[in-house]
Amino acid sequence: MTIHLIDLPYAKDALAPHISAKTLDFHHGKHHSAYVSNLNKLIEGTDLAKATIEEIIKKTANDSLKAGIFNNAAQAWNHTFYWQSMMPNGGGLPTGAIAEKINADFKGYDNFVEQLKNAGLTQFGSGWAWLVVKDKRLEIMKTSNADTPIAHGLQPLLTVDVWEHAYYLDYQNGRGSYLDAFINHLINWDFVNSHLV
Ligand code: MN
Repeated sequence: MTIHLIDLPYAKDALAPHISAKTLDFHHGKHHSAYVSNLNKLIEGTDLAKATIEEIIKKTANDSLKAGIFNNAAQAWNHTFYWQSMMPNGGGLPTGAIAEKINADFKGYDNFVEQLKNAGLTQFGSGWAWLVVKDKRLEIMKTSNADTPIAHGLQPLLTVDVWEHAYYLDYQNGRGSYLDAFINHLINWDFVNSHLV
């Protein structure tokens, strides 16, 4: 099947001033779009042409001969998940079932924030910070470049892109300020709850 670029779930200026319309314009319209079109070119005419993007990621993970397909598929998937991890006027204290689960597994919201921010700050170079479910417990993890929890059999609940293209126009080298804005103003807790089973 052809993999499609999803529309942003909000207007390009809806996350401002935390993430500008200019950043979303480049990030979705150029970066994410390129991963999707590269992926479609790479799988055309191969046995992966009819697979879902999740199947492509799982079938090409750890196969060095298919690194190009994996990188573009995982980046396409990660960005779709990232857009949905955010909403205008989001962030702050969690709501719903995830609030209790965070209190139980992180011993409080403040520890969750500290661990998520630390994962984002300490990811050297490009990558992602995640909230995932592992063995029925919440965990923070970070991945390098295109790597994604679904390649490791883990259920992601939330992600924040820490590639420089995600924040450089708005924060220059201030990755910590970008992570603060994501945590305090952008997290879509309804989306997180929708994956908590
Ligand atoms: Mn990105």
